[in-house]
Amino acid sequence: MKKIIFLMLAAVFLAGCVLNVVTGRKQLSLVNESELQLMAANQYNTFLSDNKVLNPRNNKDAAMVSRTGTNIADAIGEYYSNEGQGSILEGYKWEFNTIDSKEVNAWCMPGGKVVVYTGLLPVTQTEAALAIVMGHEIAHALAKHGNERMSQALVQQMGGMALSVAISQQPQKTQELFLMSFGIGSTIGAMLPWSRQQETEADQYGLIFAAMAGYDPREAIPFWQRMSEAGGGSPPEFLSTHPSDDTRMKNLEKFMPEALKFYTPRK
Ligand SMILES: [Zn+2]
Repeated sequence: MKKIIFLMLAAVFLAGCVLNVVTGRKQLSLVNESELQLMAANQYNTFLSDNKVLNPRNNKDAAMVSRTGTNIADAIGEYYSNEGQGSILEGYKWEFNTIDSKEVNAWCMPGGKVVVYTGLLPVTQTEAALAIVMGHEIAHALAKHGNERMSQALVQQMGGMALSVAISQQPQKTQELFLMSFGIGSTIGAMLPWSRQQETEADQYGLIFAAMAGYDPREAIPFWQRMSEAGGGSPPEFLSTHPSDDTRMKNLEKFMPEALKFYTPRK
């Protein structure tokens, strides 16, 4: 089995920073992962009860999302456990749900709570491209990007309050910050884009995760081209949280040879 080569991106050493074992980068982390996973599980269930969830047993789109997600989760689980790094997935209880919505979007909360909106599927077109998107979202979660953003939000907007204190004292605001941190459209309508560095990491590891699961990572290039062209004058929700530009395309080309080392086509 090939090893993921950790790219040491700009390592900023700050108090409250922890080394992320997936990305090899020091990140601001004031929030306990298990606390965040608990909040995610609650928010996920609320989201599912507020939206129309499709049943994979009688809907082929939902079946595809569930199958693709399970393939990726199995591949990642096997890889990290073989590497002796199974703790990366501690507390993960994967769920892959498809909701009936015109919105072009997808996300993954900490703990492996994934949602794909049916509006995304005309853009992905193929199961491999869907795997690229899901791999990208899962990479955001494993790289703890949402944790990083939630930590920053707690510092900037709530004076560095602990998450448990924030939840009990300002539940509404804490929930808004949480949804914003994980790229989920919230009632306030604020969509916070992932940073360039977070996007680059999610692309790099997302390609590898899709490839490990037997999906051709090269599908990422035409997929991101279709995404950039989608929506015409009004760009899709997905682009407001995952802005795309020439840098992304160059990075995808750059990361492709490494991702291809992990690729064995599904039978
Ligand atoms: Zn992203």
